[in-house]
Amino acid sequence: MHAYPDTQLLIDGEWRASKSGRTLPVVNPATAKVIGHVAWADTDDLDQALDAAVRGFGIWRATSAHERARLMRRAAEILRSRADEIATWMTLEQGKPLEQSRLETLAGADIIDWFAGEAQRTYGQIIPGRAPDVIQMTLKLPVGPVAAFTPWNFPINQVVRKLSAALAAGCSIIVKAAEETPASPAALINAFVDAGIPRGVVNLVYGVPADISGYLIPHPAIRKISFTGSTPVGKTLAALAGLHMKRATMELGGHAPVIVAEDADVDEAARVMVAAKFRNAGQICVAPTRFLVHDSVADHFTERFAEGARAIRVGDGLDSGVGMGPLANERRIPALEALINDATTRNAKLVTGGRRIGNEGWFFEPTVLADVPTDARIMNEEPFGPVAIINRFDTLDAAIEEANRLPYGLAAFGFTRSSATATRLGNEVVAGMMSINHYGLALPEVPFGGTRDSGYGTEGGSEALEAYLDTRLVTRKG
Ligand code: NAD
Repeated sequence: MHAYPDTQLLIDGEWRASKSGRTLPVVNPATAKVIGHVAWADTDDLDQALDAAVRGFGIWRATSAHERARLMRRAAEILRSRADEIATWMTLEQGKPLEQSRLETLAGADIIDWFAGEAQRTYGQIIPGRAPDVIQMTLKLPVGPVAAFTPWNFPINQVVRKLSAALAAGCSIIVKAAEETPASPAALINAFVDAGIPRGVVNLVYGVPADISGYLIPHPAIRKISFTGSTPVGKTLAALAGLHMKRATMELGGHAPVIVAEDADVDEAARVMVAAKFRNAGQICVAPTRFLVHDSVADHFTERFAEGARAIRVGDGLDSGVGMGPLANERRIPALEALINDATTRNAKLVTGGRRIGNEGWFFEPTVLADVPTDARIMNEEPFGPVAIINRFDTLDAAIEEANRLPYGLAAFGFTRSSATATRLGNEVVAGMMSINHYGLALPEVPFGGTRDSGYGTEGGSEALEAYLDTRLVTRKG
């Protein structure tokens, strides 16, 4: 067992307390007990982080892409070698089962490796000139110091995508990770420190989220914002970024539809979707939420899905055999209870679950609601928890219309054996990501992002680096 550490700020290559000495408590969601503290940065600390990021940018932009990639790969190796210890800390602070924490840490190392490769592929262009002695070329240059704001649901994954893309592009970065889950992102960043990343290139702060974003986003030193979190907060931060003409990537909420057609492999669809729905206790922006199942297979699908939900062992993520841990935040329990009560009051059927488990820690039953009317709150608000809605449809047109009814557009899923139906799903469901007949999202090499109220920009695939690069034209005669 690895003792849970207190977390400090990383500013200009030094791990240190905040200037004021203030801290915030960190709570284990499985026990509701305080397990440690995290340093609370105020403006003095932020000013130092900003100065460091400006100096770090000067060093890092002048470091060759080859050398940046080498240091990043070394950080990935260090992260892998520490995965067991880091996973324990992640489970203690976030709640997810230990194996999910370990896989998230190892996946983080893969993301670093993939972006290290991208660092060496930031190609510009040579554009044919209109005269024989004119050379026109584009250079891809790092946009500048980045401010990144990340949530508590994937403490490493949410940071590593932004951090790796920024570093690969040649940017320095100030990360404000989630105060609820500070130790595992600090361990991720420490892998970069131990790999030899120059001082000031990576900085890590914690504190009051609105105070930090309100200070960093308008600051002239910061040239790029990346935020993952809820749509209302994302809209506020995007507006602030716009006011100050800062580039922004916004990875926000979703309400993922899942269309199960009459010709789907229903058992396989239920198996894949139970795993996707209840992983990380449903606290995932791409978690499947609104299941739209063809009438002819709806009873069968609901039975199989509910069987799968009931079979999940809920408990402390450190205990072996546990498939689902507690919710990460106490505030989500009344939020889920209110959504479920509202649905059942409107005659939705509670197929399984629906209640908090025990009164120690923030455990909640894997829950399935069926036949939920469109005006129920849960059909319109992201539950961000272990609740699935199973509704019926009779024509594909009706299913696609319902899938597109909400203003979100993040992930969507489909199950069908018909290539015509699969083509329609890919073309007509409005989503940043559509996964058909399997769960194929969130690999480093594929795009990850949304449209409409789910935000803009991608945090995966070859386009992810573009968000951190400026294109400069250099045209020369003679
Ligand atoms: P929230 O909106 O209060 O916070 C979401 C995240 O944003 C947290 O990490 C928080 O620290 C941060 N945040 C809040 N205000 C901020 C500000 N002014 N500046 C910078 N950061 C700020 O919601 P919550 O109760 O923590 O989580 C529930 C909701 O958050 C869900 O409904 C979901 O939509 C969203 N969420 C989304 C993701 C995702 O992966 N897209 C992850 C976590 C939470």
